[in-house]
Amino acid sequence: MIITDTHAHIYSELFENDRNEMMNRAISKGVSRFFVPAIDSTYTKAMLDIEHQFPKNVFLMMGLHPTHVKENVVDELAKVKEWLDKRTFYGVGEIGIDLYWDKTFLKQQQDAFKTQIEWAKEKKLPIIIHSRDSFDEIFEVLDDVKDEQLFGIFHCFTGTKDQAEKALTYQMKLGIGGVVTFKNGKIDQFLKEIPLNHIVLESDAPYLAPVPFRGKRNESSYLPLIVDKLAQIYNLTPNEIASITTQNSKEIFSI
Ligand SMILES: [Zn+2]
Repeated sequence: MIITDTHAHIYSELFENDRNEMMNRAISKGVSRFFVPAIDSTYTKAMLDIEHQFPKNVFLMMGLHPTHVKENVVDELAKVKEWLDKRTFYGVGEIGIDLYWDKTFLKQQQDAFKTQIEWAKEKKLPIIIHSRDSFDEIFEVLDDVKDEQLFGIFHCFTGTKDQAEKALTYQMKLGIGGVVTFKNGKIDQFLKEIPLNHIVLESDAPYLAPVPFRGKRNESSYLPLIVDKLAQIYNLTPNEIASITTQNSKEIFSI
């Protein structure tokens, strides 16, 4: 069984003391493909290091995370562009709009989101969308840039059924992780009505650990819990869930 984690911050400082063990735990459970979203330039070296260590398993993305869009946004975006021009990345992300923590930089977040979508299109790469308290604002930008070259993943999808269906109209797949195991997570209620070919798996490690680890540090080795939950929801075997969602990830990332 090959399980694909389409969103894991394995370079996080929270894995500083046991990163190799964490990676090997995941790989021993079948989680052998890790797609790694960027946050900002302070993490780039750590990302490259872990790619160097696990070259067959780790696939890097490049982008500026919306919560890190600040006064230095111009410099940070220049670095993103420089890296995108310099070497292979598998996606542009994570990018988007986050109004949960801070609305001060909304305008800059919207502009940075748009600019990075343009770069993704130029490079024929998927975008990885981070949306928090911002579905309307995200859809507004997507309406502006929508065309056949726009595609990607709505990471950590936690919206309603209507929002899910709307996301699909922009050629987005839905990233499903720990929230689907939460009692109040809500997405488990309608997910079976979304065809499985639109779903990819993600841990979002070290955040959003699934039940029974909710509230603790998350890691990719917990993804089989998500596979089991989706097997229940879609009435398929865990093997089928792993294989279909891995196939979906290959469609998105072209690897
Ligand atoms: Zn993330």
